Amino acid sequence: MAIQTVDANTNQLLKSFEEMSVSQVDEAISNATSAFTEWKKTSYEKRADLLHKVATLMRDQKQYLAGLITMEMGKLIAQAEGEITLSADILDYYADHGAKFLADKPLAPEYGKAFIRYSPIGVLLGVEPWNFPFYQVARFAAPNIMVGNTVLVKHASIVPQCAIAIEDLFKEAGAPKGIYTNLLISGKRASGLVSDTRIKGVSLTGSEAAGASVASEAGKNLKKSVLELGGSDAFIILEDADMDKAVEWAVVGRINNNGECCVASKRFIAIESIADEFITKFKDKMAALVMGDPMDAATQLGPLSSEEAAVDLADQVQRSVDAGATVLLGGKRPDRPGAFMEPTILTDLHPGIPAYYEELFGPVASFYRVKDDQAAIDLANDSPFGLGGSIFTQDIERGKLLADKIDTGMVFINHPTWTQADLPFGGTKGSGYGRELSELGIDEFVNKKLIRISELDDPF
Ligand code: NAP
Repeated sequence: MAIQTVDANTNQLLKSFEEMSVSQVDEAISNATSAFTEWKKTSYEKRADLLHKVATLMRDQKQYLAGLITMEMGKLIAQAEGEITLSADILDYYADHGAKFLADKPLAPEYGKAFIRYSPIGVLLGVEPWNFPFYQVARFAAPNIMVGNTVLVKHASIVPQCAIAIEDLFKEAGAPKGIYTNLLISGKRASGLVSDTRIKGVSLTGSEAAGASVASEAGKNLKKSVLELGGSDAFIILEDADMDKAVEWAVVGRINNNGECCVASKRFIAIESIADEFITKFKDKMAALVMGDPMDAATQLGPLSSEEAAVDLADQVQRSVDAGATVLLGGKRPDRPGAFMEPTILTDLHPGIPAYYEELFGPVASFYRVKDDQAAIDLANDSPFGLGGSIFTQDIERGKLLADKIDTGMVFINHPTWTQADLPFGGTKGSGYGRELSELGIDEFVNKKLIRISELDDPF
């Protein structure tokens, strides 16, 4: 894939970048390896200081950095600013809490004494997607740099200026060479790097195909991997839900980030008795969305990240309609330049129709009616994905009972699935494995070493 900045609002090519050569990548891995030998010996205070400095620089340059996000992948400018703040919060969170999370953990064995000591494992490769160009990198890089690992980041080819800006922030903050390195290379080359003996682990956020490619290389080479892949979150509306709030959140859940969010609410499942009310109100609000330039504060729905993404989504809708789906709203590309797609609602979906099992990455919602709670759970779980999900009800105990039965890594009651530094993020089934963020996120690429102190006469 060409490494380029293309304005999604106009589809104009703004800038092209040269891929790094094989020898430049080799040098980058060597630098990260040498940096590790020193970084692993630095104090937690020093590592925290670096992360705080990067966070401060991010906040200071928020408008500029948010502008890069919006230009390269079309996110609404206010949401891009929110992403910069969230990313800085993640850096601060690991700087503030990392030492506590990584402190020796005492054990209580039957004989003698023992504890777990956490230590870094070396150079890691992070392969990151374009949809949250700063946040995705922050949640991989911050915990691992705090642990004492060094990181190489292969970012998505459509956000090269964001990728370079993040590396520049680390440089400006005084990071020693090799602690954080941006690799301007294609996805295929990233998979090939996993077998390099200097790289000790790999984390990928992106599609199932890319995840499978990286994970099979990691498996063949006996390396740890973490995968954060796609999702098709169910958004269940029970008959006792606060309907107006549920509808408001349904729209936000579907079109936040122009619909290009792994944890977007994608499948709306309403109990029959309130299904008409929900779909009427939801459709009205989706239809009223103001589409336009993502730099304009009045815009509610911007372009998709690329023309290719918009073409693919429109094709998924068309294939679904051809297979029997009904379009309740939208369904087409609007008549305007840029990578836009109309807000769309599909219904009459069943297995065999592409939109039933496939992830819809954009402002396209699927709508289902079910007779009761069990039918809602069965439908929610009939998905190859297992990332997040939502239940809207005023009866929290009932919500908790249903949450327990949903086969995903995250369930939110009365809110679309969302993220913050101190909550774990990750999925199950086709959505991947491992966790990022919170205390769990610092635990993935560490050696949890047992140290055992025995009395000389303890039994064998
Ligand atoms: P993608 O094509 O898989 O791209 C993601 C990253 O993987 C990019 O850096 C890409 O590089 C690279 N890549 C592509 N093919 C590769 C390969 N064979 N080996 C190694 N790396 C490869 O994903 P996308 O379509 O851009 O992103 C959207 C997907 O990410 C959606 O499915 C979404 O749900 C998922 N996602 C998941 C989470 C989560 O936390 N679970 C968060 C955000 C997004 P190039 O750009 O150079 O191709």
